[in-house]
Amino acid sequence: MNQHYTRTLVTTALPYANGPVHLGHLAGVYLPADIYVRFKRLLGEDIIHIGGSDEHGVPITITADKEGISPQDVVDRYHRMNLEAFTKCGISFNCYGRTSSELHFQTAQEFFREIDAKDIFVKKKERHFFDPETNRFLSDRYVTGTCPICNYPEANGDQCEQCGTHLSPLELIEPRSKLSNEVPELRETLHWYFPLGRFQEKLENYVRGHDTDWRTNVLNYTRTWLKQGLNDRAITRDLHWGIPVPVDNDEAMGKVLYVWFDAVLGYISFTREWAEKQGEPELWRQYWQSPDCRVIHFIGKDNVVFHTLMFPAIIMAWNEGRKEGVYSLADNVPASEFMNFEGRKFSKSRNYAVYLGEFLEKFPADTLRYSIAMNYPENKDSDFSWSDFQNRTNGELADTLGNFIKRSVDFTNAKFSGEIPYACTEEDWLSLGIDWEDSFRKLEKAYEGFHFREAASLTMQIARSANRFLTDSEPWKAIKTDPDAAARTMSLSVNLCYTLAIVGYPVIPHTSNRIYAMLGFSETLDDALKKGDVSWGMAKSPQLEKGHRLSARSEILFRKIEDEDIAPELEKIEGLLAEIEKKEKENTGDEIHFKPDISFDDFLKVDLRVATVVACEKVKKADKLLKLQLEVGSENRQVLAGIAQSFTPDSIIGKNVVLVANLAERKIRGELSQGMILAVEGNDGRMNLVEVDGTGINGKMVQ
Ligand SMILES: [Zn+2]
Repeated sequence: MNQHYTRTLVTTALPYANGPVHLGHLAGVYLPADIYVRFKRLLGEDIIHIGGSDEHGVPITITADKEGISPQDVVDRYHRMNLEAFTKCGISFNCYGRTSSELHFQTAQEFFREIDAKDIFVKKKERHFFDPETNRFLSDRYVTGTCPICNYPEANGDQCEQCGTHLSPLELIEPRSKLSNEVPELRETLHWYFPLGRFQEKLENYVRGHDTDWRTNVLNYTRTWLKQGLNDRAITRDLHWGIPVPVDNDEAMGKVLYVWFDAVLGYISFTREWAEKQGEPELWRQYWQSPDCRVIHFIGKDNVVFHTLMFPAIIMAWNEGRKEGVYSLADNVPASEFMNFEGRKFSKSRNYAVYLGEFLEKFPADTLRYSIAMNYPENKDSDFSWSDFQNRTNGELADTLGNFIKRSVDFTNAKFSGEIPYACTEEDWLSLGIDWEDSFRKLEKAYEGFHFREAASLTMQIARSANRFLTDSEPWKAIKTDPDAAARTMSLSVNLCYTLAIVGYPVIPHTSNRIYAMLGFSETLDDALKKGDVSWGMAKSPQLEKGHRLSARSEILFRKIEDEDIAPELEKIEGLLAEIEKKEKENTGDEIHFKPDISFDDFLKVDLRVATVVACEKVKKADKLLKLQLEVGSENRQVLAGIAQSFTPDSIIGKNVVLVANLAERKIRGELSQGMILAVEGNDGRMNLVEVDGTGINGKMVQ
């Protein structure tokens, strides 16, 4: 941050309205953003948090087709479900919009028209699969076929689930339409492309300007893309679900904006929606079109280049030649790594996840917020485990924080009629054994630098010190021998409760509100904050004066989590893991499913040859592919193989491998592949080549 800003706009990646959000999403994006926003609100800063549902794209229409309902039904369901879960979790959006809203259609079309009018888009005629049965062009996900890399027969047109390779539908062997199961035909169609390359230099300058303040992972992903050179990227698709391409001629018929172009603009339309709801429809400009406002995008690491290159390029295209209505680029893009679950990656497709809504039906939001904050995947993947959740809830929240608050309030109620019996001085405060200046400096630095695990941990340290102070002072003994000392202890303790309510607010806001009520305030902490009655600075010194009356009612802030509370959860994971293992076994052939018989003549048609690897290199933009040059007798062949994660190029030069030599040529990633080499996947997921010992056998038939 090189500039003084007076306002902040925080956006969070739009969850896809095709499924419920899970704890991995919460940990990577929504909780860190909410913690940050709440901290800034405590500072009294002008900050808004904008999010919403991404409601377009092919997976939604696939779900709708599968369930026999409309895409609108699908997005209605998940928008409602996710908003409800976020609300329950205390994610305090200022606006949670939808990309199916009218205002969003307007915004996205406005952007398209502006950029189109400047002649920035490139139009290309290309051939796409078309299903004559259903009279529809097939987007990538609607085409299935055999993977050219691993031979998996059910690969999707955009990616093979088995080997993970990103594909284009044209690369599939024996493609079929998912709609009709028929062989699709290729038809010509026109599409609009965004020429990212045109903004290469500007984007390089933009990213260079953040060399020191962006996270390393963000810079690395972005620089890799920049280094490879930016290409044209399609922004339209032949689909019925989405925002129609706003061009008044037949060219645009049946076409919608590609979801990557439309979704990021949601941040802008939802800010407009928020402004309208404030009764000041132009207010959004103070956030998007003012140099005084700092824009921050909270995202997961899988979304980095959309926010550091593509969205900025769209904004640059809009801004080109403009003096007014110029949009700001993000000042920071704090992308998280992933949070795993019991040591394994969350996976929606494998149903290996804990969904936020379901979790909150069983456990309180703040226990989740706290334990996730303590495991925030800031610069490396982290893990959520039930035992860690149980330990943190019981040992830290219940035994330390909850116990301290309840003892302080209860003892003051019992022995001092619920009134603060003594006026704390600055000197008393400094004698507590807490280095206040240092603690607050570290806390503020942690929040400002997006180090939320550190912030949560520093907060718990203050609770620990407070708890120790109360225990060591033994007011229950002193009340009999030295009542003045007991009075001083309790006044300080209750003031520490007040400090903890404020300091804890970003991470555990529900608890802070409950502490605030126990301290005798009739309005909620949230309301007091809105009115400016409390602030971050007030936590730094004792605020509750002698005579201040506490609430007569205290409560247990955190119920301990017993083993039997999490037993069903652990059981559920075992079930899920067993299911995943079973599926993996099916795929790796522990239970062998042989292919249908073929005739001997058919077998003889396959020409298997010994080939020697004479050269090998990686394929650009395909982290699974190696390009091999093979010597087969007197002939040379080039073959692409999906083994780059098991071998370095150098390590296979000189090996004798088995080549399927008469397989029809095909192009993969624009490179010619003339045949296939045989390999076996090991139990560890690594590939092993089928090798042939011997010298001088190169070119010989394998039989
Ligand atoms: Zn594959």
